[in-house]
Amino acid sequence: MRVGVLALQGDVSEHAQVLREVGAEPVLVRTPQALEDVQALVLPGGESTTLGALMARCGLDQAIRRRAQEGMPVFGTCAGLILMARRASGGEPPLLGLMDVAVERNAYGRQRESFEDDLACPAVDPNPFRVAFIRAPVITGVGEGVQVLARHEGLPVLVRQGRLLGATFHPEITGYTGVHRYFCSLAASAGGVG
Ligand code: GLN
Repeated sequence: MRVGVLALQGDVSEHAQVLREVGAEPVLVRTPQALEDVQALVLPGGESTTLGALMARCGLDQAIRRRAQEGMPVFGTCAGLILMARRASGGEPPLLGLMDVAVERNAYGRQRESFEDDLACPAVDPNPFRVAFIRAPVITGVGEGVQVLARHEGLPVLVRQGRLLGATFHPEITGYTGVHRYFCSLAASAGGVG
């Protein structure tokens, strides 16, 4: 399966590497044309204001919105999830508004800006796995169609709405492949449509 990674800014190569490890073919997406060639898309972490502005500049915002409406599976991590959200507080970047969630940017505050922890998420893995929260957002609201797959200290950190998956953490930098495997299997069960 050809899985795009939005490659405008952020931790692009880490996602591409994990996708390769789970048997997908990563495709770096920098233009609306490149997006036409993929069956699913990963929106990486980075800086959501920058990512939003760069996407708008090359028309990828409209193209991603259209493909997502047509059913393309999308997985956003950290800044990528912020872009997918319906609403963001703490400085609103240009949002794609794909997912019925509200987020607050940089909500963990200074001391806890970045940390790693083990996450329990039976939907993804029977065993807890290591993930990293890096200047992470907090999900402050989820709509009715949104499933919370994992919580960390009571807060939703992995959410799914049909073919859309969003994580406030980074699964791609701790050597863990299970969340990408989960995304690829949900994308494959979507028939690679979109
Ligand atoms: N703090 C960043 C933002 O608000 C997200 C950080 C990340 O993606 N690791 O855009």
